[in-house]
Amino acid sequence: MSQFWSESVHQLEPYVPGEQPKVTNLIKLNTNENPYPPSAKAIAAIQAANADSLRLYPDPNSDALKQSIANYYALETKQVFVGNGSDEVLAHTFQALLKHDAPLLFPDITYSFYPVYCGLYDIHYKTIALTDTFAININDYQQPNGGIIFPNPNAPTGVGLDLKDIETLIQNNASSVVVIDEAYIDFGGESAVALVNQFPNLLVCQTLSKSRSLAGLRVGFAVGHPDLIAGLERVKNSFNSYPIDRLAEQGAIAAMADQTYFDATCHKIITSRDFLTQQLKQLGFKVLPSQANFVFTQHPTHDAEKISAYLRSQAIIVRHFKQERIAQYLRITIGRHDECVLLVQALKEYLKGS
Ligand SMILES: *Cc1c(COP(=O)(O)O)cnc(C)c1O
Repeated sequence: MSQFWSESVHQLEPYVPGEQPKVTNLIKLNTNENPYPPSAKAIAAIQAANADSLRLYPDPNSDALKQSIANYYALETKQVFVGNGSDEVLAHTFQALLKHDAPLLFPDITYSFYPVYCGLYDIHYKTIALTDTFAININDYQQPNGGIIFPNPNAPTGVGLDLKDIETLIQNNASSVVVIDEAYIDFGGESAVALVNQFPNLLVCQTLSKSRSLAGLRVGFAVGHPDLIAGLERVKNSFNSYPIDRLAEQGAIAAMADQTYFDATCHKIITSRDFLTQQLKQLGFKVLPSQANFVFTQHPTHDAEKISAYLRSQAIIVRHFKQERIAQYLRITIGRHDECVLLVQALKEYLKGS
């Protein structure tokens, strides 16, 4: 608290990101980062970028990166918006497209940044309860709204929604913008990018942080109708002309182009997710069906916070949310196979000893 703060700052409830420990000898399964390094081609492109050129500003429009994303999805560059991580893309989206008189709708259990942006931009919102199986029922969104947003697959549950349902939802809400946050789509979900040429009220956000192992580079993007993109550009150009720096642009372009490496890494993570799910079930855990690079899991007789504390004592960090409905769940990022094995061993020890 400070007398010098602007009035609105007193009311903010900032997002709390997962811990980034300062020590390196931990098995870090708490923030859904990719356990594999970025594409060697992305690293080479960043290293090849001429450091002397850093005295110059980057391209304010990131045209080359937009072109590479447009090519990837067979779209036009005017259908692509890029930002400093998809968190920034989402922030601009809330301000540019989701602030209306009617409430913005999103699930009660979802990415916890959404209510934070609503607080920052003074957006009226209403949460819609997930079903008992933590699914999104699109009929529950059939009510007056100023926009709809959710991740697909949802976070922190990992549960996916069929593209057919998303299409129906977009059709049923033709006068508001539907934003699908596809941070985890590459791990097995069906992307709504296939629908953007059909529906002018659909915006799809993605990130290079998870499936392309570039959380540290900070690159995210959105695709949608050129009018939606133009609204985002207006906000972006009222905020920061240069969200994508020169190194980030080169790394991101090379990462988007390396399909072989991308396919191989996603495949390894999906295989490990299946392995970990089956191992957890053998230990008596309930595991929600996941289409993401994490699992959301609960033990019927062991307290989630205690399990998390034990794992921490064994140098393994997972994520626990002290939130209604999910306080007994742990969100565990899929690590490398050897990390999954060590996690299962630690859980076995814990269940034996207690
Ligand atoms: C990780 C994540 C993001 C943000 O990713 P960036 O690193 O900012 O690109 C956005 N939405 C969801 C649901 C996420 O889990």
